[in-house]
Amino acid sequence: MARVPCDIKDLSLPPGSELLRYDGGVLSVPGNPVVAVIRGDGIGPEVIGSAVRVIDEAVRVAYGGSRRIHWLELVAGRGAFEICGTPLPEVTVEAIRLVRAALKGPLETPVGGGYRSANVLLRQLLDLYANIRPVKWYGQPTPYMYPGKVDLVVFRENTEDLYAGIEWAFDSVEAEDFRRFLRERFGVRLAADTGVGVKPISRSATQRLARLALSWAIRRGRRRVTIAHKGTVMKFTEGAFARWVYEIALNEFRDSIVLEREIESMEGVVPEGKVLVNDRLADNLLQQLILRPWDYDVIVCPNVLGDLVSEVAAAVVGGVGIAPGINMGDGIAVAEPAHGSAPKHAGRNIANPTASILAGALLLRELLGWHEAADVIEKAVGEAISRGFVTYDLARYTGDATPLGTREYTERLVEIMRVTG
Ligand code: NAP
Repeated sequence: MARVPCDIKDLSLPPGSELLRYDGGVLSVPGNPVVAVIRGDGIGPEVIGSAVRVIDEAVRVAYGGSRRIHWLELVAGRGAFEICGTPLPEVTVEAIRLVRAALKGPLETPVGGGYRSANVLLRQLLDLYANIRPVKWYGQPTPYMYPGKVDLVVFRENTEDLYAGIEWAFDSVEAEDFRRFLRERFGVRLAADTGVGVKPISRSATQRLARLALSWAIRRGRRRVTIAHKGTVMKFTEGAFARWVYEIALNEFRDSIVLEREIESMEGVVPEGKVLVNDRLADNLLQQLILRPWDYDVIVCPNVLGDLVSEVAAAVVGGVGIAPGINMGDGIAVAEPAHGSAPKHAGRNIANPTASILAGALLLRELLGWHEAADVIEKAVGEAISRGFVTYDLARYTGDATPLGTREYTERLVEIMRVTG
């Protein structure tokens, strides 16, 4: 691995690379862009190493030598804490802000103490307000009966809600002050040993997510956008979230959408060329995702619920080992596998790199607009799986497949891309 910068003065761009430019809402992508890569903790270096190899090959297969990614190595997470003394060095944030594209491995976060989640901080500092997670079946083994009917995309708000990190330990001065404030100002009494967290959900953050999800769904010809929420209980946060998404749908996309109540008289048939916008309560939606996932297409969620929804959806098609995600802002994105650092599997050459590889495909497609290279990757993943080339996590759902190691699986993918392109 190249030497990683801990300080801004140590940052230098790869020779021969060019930066993405974002002007007036338009992203310009050169043929030789610099893309940041953070290998991350635990299994991160193995799965991201595999992804970089596969992405480079896919770009070569798709464009000959006319396009090439120049990788810029950065650090974050426990690795950064050990090397640079902080889990998120300023240079890492500023370098991603500059280059606008990054592929990130999983980062370890201590539970219940220690440093704050570098993942959450990175999303907040770079204003990566939408977490997009496609959930699709590539033919991989799964204990679920109808995986072929699953093809949905979760758009999760990424900066607010209980994950905003506004919380205090039960025995902190801040929690005591907060409890006193609630008692004296609103007559709300909390037990003296109550830890507190704040659930902020704003109209502005909700509506920029709604705009992105609705325009994406319309542009990509999707059938349905479902707003997920628990607004019956959390009226002024999740209930408001649902109302604000509807507001954008009706005010800005009226010609392209239809509401559920508007098609009741048409026996629920959605008119040709329109996207149905509806909403579902979280508990109902989570069980329906398992029972009738084909009823869902694009799902828009507040942050915490979105985390759960995307994980359940990923499980239905075979688990997190194959689930990618991309955190998007305006003209900037950080793609990552949905899973964590799985420390017990680190360094054993067994982890499934597919989630990281597909995260790379997402970055190519959603940010760079390099659809041909993304197609090469997705096709190769489907082909590898259909030939029984899988890592241990998927092999355990089949009676006969011999699991491949991370490196061996990666090489099979590269071979397939070279032959089938
Ligand atoms: P995890 O790392 O996702 O691992 C949970 C289990 O999922 C693993 O034990 C393994 O299951 C399976 N798994 C995950 N990735 C896999 C892969 N690539 N291939 C095959 N199986 C895979 O979740 P965790 O143990 O809860 O979290 C560990 C650390 O990761 C924590 O520090 C957490 O904060 C961090 N984390 C980071 C991110 C992120 O950076 N975005 C996300 C989530 C968690 P089996 O052992 O059953 O096979």
